[in-house]
Amino acid sequence: MIVELNNIHFSYGRVKALDGVTLGLSEGAVGLLGPNGAGKSTLLRLLLGFLPPQKGTGRVLGYDIRLEQPQIRRHVGYMPEDECLIPGMDAVTFTAYFGELSGMPHQEAIKRAHDVLFYVGLGESRYRQLETYSAGMKQRLKLAQAIVHDPKLLFLDEPTSNLDPSGRKEILELITDISSKKDIQVLISSHILTDIESVCSDVVILNKGRLAAQGRISELKRLRFRLYEVRIKGNGQGFIERLRRIGYTVEETEDNLLKVYIPEDQEILQFFQAAEEEKVQVRLFVRSQTSLEDLFAKAVGVD
Ligand code: ATP
Repeated sequence: MIVELNNIHFSYGRVKALDGVTLGLSEGAVGLLGPNGAGKSTLLRLLLGFLPPQKGTGRVLGYDIRLEQPQIRRHVGYMPEDECLIPGMDAVTFTAYFGELSGMPHQEAIKRAHDVLFYVGLGESRYRQLETYSAGMKQRLKLAQAIVHDPKLLFLDEPTSNLDPSGRKEILELITDISSKKDIQVLISSHILTDIESVCSDVVILNKGRLAAQGRISELKRLRFRLYEVRIKGNGQGFIERLRRIGYTVEETEDNLLKVYIPEDQEILQFFQAAEEEKVQVRLFVRSQTSLEDLFAKAVGVD
C-alpha cells in the first residue's frame, strides 16, 4: 500500500474537517474529489505530516504520518494549491531551494533544478524573476519544485486551478507523463472530473470529511442510486441495519432524517417489507431531488 489511513479524525477548533476516514491506496494515479470544504486539502496536509491527526493512524510509503515526517517529505513531492512563490527569486534558485529543503545537497539540487525546469517547459525562462511569470508558468514551476528531489509519490492540490484551457492541457499532459513514464505515484485533488479522468484510473471521493466513495472511476460511474428522504417512528437501529443488509446505503442526519440510497437494481418494495417486519412506522418517504449521482456530479463539476 502506498497510503494507508485508519479512522482519521481532524478538526480545526469546532470545524470537523475529517471525520473517521479509512482508506488504502495502491499503485496508480488517484484522483481526490469532493465539493468545497470536503476535507481534501486537510487530508493532503495530514498525509504529508504537516498536521497530526487527533485520532487514527496512517502510513505513507510505509512511514508513520505522526512519527516519520522527515522521511515522508524526502520521498513525497507536494504541489500546494496556494501560490508559494518567493518574489525576487528566479526559477532555478527557487526550485533548488525546495530540493535542499527535501534534503538534497546544494550542488545536486541546482543541477536537478535545471533538469526539471526544462522538463516542465520553463528552460528558457529559468533565470527570469518569478513575479513576471504567467499563471500557467507559475503552475509548471510549482510542479517542478514538487518533483525536484525525485519523489516516489506526488501530491497535487488543484493543479489546474486558475488556468485557461491550454494551460490546463499542458499541466495535465505533464502529470500524465510523470505518472506513466517516471514511475511516480500521484494523488491529485480537484473539483474537475474531466481533469481527473484524463489522468487517473481511480478516485477517492470525500464529502463533509467522510469517505463518500472509493474505487475505479469506470465502476463508480456505473453506480446508480435513487435517494429517498425518510422519517420513521419505531426501532430505528434495527430497521437501518436491515436496510443495509438488503444493500441500501443509509445515512443518519442530525435531525433524525434518514437518507436512503436504493441501488437501481433493488426493489423499493423491500423497504416497506423491512419496515413492516421491524414494526417501524414510515412517516415520510420522498424522493430527494439530489440523487447520489447528482451529488457526485456536483462534487466534481460536471452535469
Ligand atoms: P476546497 O476544495 O475548498 O479547498 P477542501 O476539500 O480542500 O476544500 P479543506 O480545505 O480541507 O477542504 O477544509 C475542510 C474544512 O475545514 C472546511 O470546513 C474548512 O472551512 C475548514 N478549514 C480548513 N482549513 C482551516 C483552518 N486553517 N482553520 C479553520 N478551518 C479550516
